[in-house]
Amino acid sequence: MGDADCIRRAARIVIDATKEASVIVVVSAMGGVTNRLVDAAHRSAAGDEGPSHSLANALRDEHFAAADTLVSDLSARQELKVQLEKITSQVSDLCHGVRLLRELTPKSLATLSSIGERLSAPLMASALTDEGLKSAAVSATELIVTDDQFDQAEPLMAQVRERAKSRLLPLLEKEITPVVTGFIGATLDGALTTLGRGGSDYSATTLGAATNADEIVIWTDVDGVLTADPRLVPEARLLHEISYKEAAELAYFGAKVLHPKTLRPVAEAGIPVWIRNSFAPERAGTRITQTGRTSANGVRAITAISNVSLITVGGRGMVGAVGVAAKMFAAVASVRANVLLISQSSSENDICLIVESADASQTLKALKKAFARDLDHHDVEYITVNDEIAIVAVVGEKMHGTPGMAGRTFSALGDRGINIIAIAQGSSEYNVSFVVEKHAMRSAVAAIHEEFKLHLPPATESS
Ligand code: ASP
Ligand code: MG
Repeated sequence: MGDADCIRRAARIVIDATKEASVIVVVSAMGGVTNRLVDAAHRSAAGDEGPSHSLANALRDEHFAAADTLVSDLSARQELKVQLEKITSQVSDLCHGVRLLRELTPKSLATLSSIGERLSAPLMASALTDEGLKSAAVSATELIVTDDQFDQAEPLMAQVRERAKSRLLPLLEKEITPVVTGFIGATLDGALTTLGRGGSDYSATTLGAATNADEIVIWTDVDGVLTADPRLVPEARLLHEISYKEAAELAYFGAKVLHPKTLRPVAEAGIPVWIRNSFAPERAGTRITQTGRTSANGVRAITAISNVSLITVGGRGMVGAVGVAAKMFAAVASVRANVLLISQSSSENDICLIVESADASQTLKALKKAFARDLDHHDVEYITVNDEIAIVAVVGEKMHGTPGMAGRTFSALGDRGINIIAIAQGSSEYNVSFVVEKHAMRSAVAAIHEEFKLHLPPATESS
């Protein structure tokens, strides 16, 4: 929903789609709006008075300008602006409250960061109406019932199903296209929540599953899921079809196309999800399904992330000691750091794990505290953090049971003199991940891409 042009393009896509089927639209905020709201929230908590009024005014002006472009009917435009004004004025009130308390709770953060979607939904609905399609904005707070983890809420599916059916289906029967705010929801007692950053995809699949949709299309600014990040591998190729499991692994390991939880609601129901480019709607995109397409060599795609840190707990006294890993993970969990990869050598001399770099210093602190005695007694000799690393993940559901996948991967790296720091493969075998030095990330991805000839369409995939 970048800007007015994007909204118009999106409106055309919706109108085309309604010629074939009933459509429920889920929108995210206009470009950059959520980031600015989150930033203002943090600055207000730090006591900064600046952002609240200026942001409220800027958001009002920008959305008014979009309304001027998108809505030609003057009275509809006026009505829309009254609504937009009401929502943007909450920005200053909320920031003011946060600043007075000098505290940003997950609840106030959720309410502030929801403003973008609450503005874009009525804007989109009015744009559709202006183009001649009957449409109504619907707040997801009426539909997506969630738990009370305010800024990382989980939908409660049974309730969502009930609400979505009673609220959305009657609109569809009257041929009114609902435009729902992405990203947000509400607890059973009506307090606003968000599903986490980038959560609009998750909103869409949640509502798709709740209404038994035939398919879900995520319109974004890329062609779909590629075999690798084209900035790392220029010859990366679009994947026409992949499985839920492959897409989830890729999302988790940094292919920024999908919110990691997006596929959970639809995987069970087997509803296909498309990723398509709203700037090039004629292109086919990637289809995500239960089985994906079988591919000749098993490896489908490679992702890499470098904003991660390797934390190692080691020492000779750890050999044969019981409970070291348990203590380590309890410490990591106590600071709510997400562990991306774990590895332990069988000599037990050390255990290493990887967390996002943003969580590294907190994690280190928690570990030093948890192992204070062991460090004193030299059972644990060191706890180190290395930020100069990257994780590379080789993903493919059909790697499962295919011998030689890991061998070929590591030979390709060895041939190019790339040093591997740690390795992990889950027993699902959908993913072999390893750690390299940050500067070797690009050549590692390129080497594996070449080894498995991912630039060529696999035998089973035509076009
Ligand atoms: N606007 C929200 C965010 O930026 C949700 C989304 O874009 O999917 O995180
Ligand atoms: Mg966004």
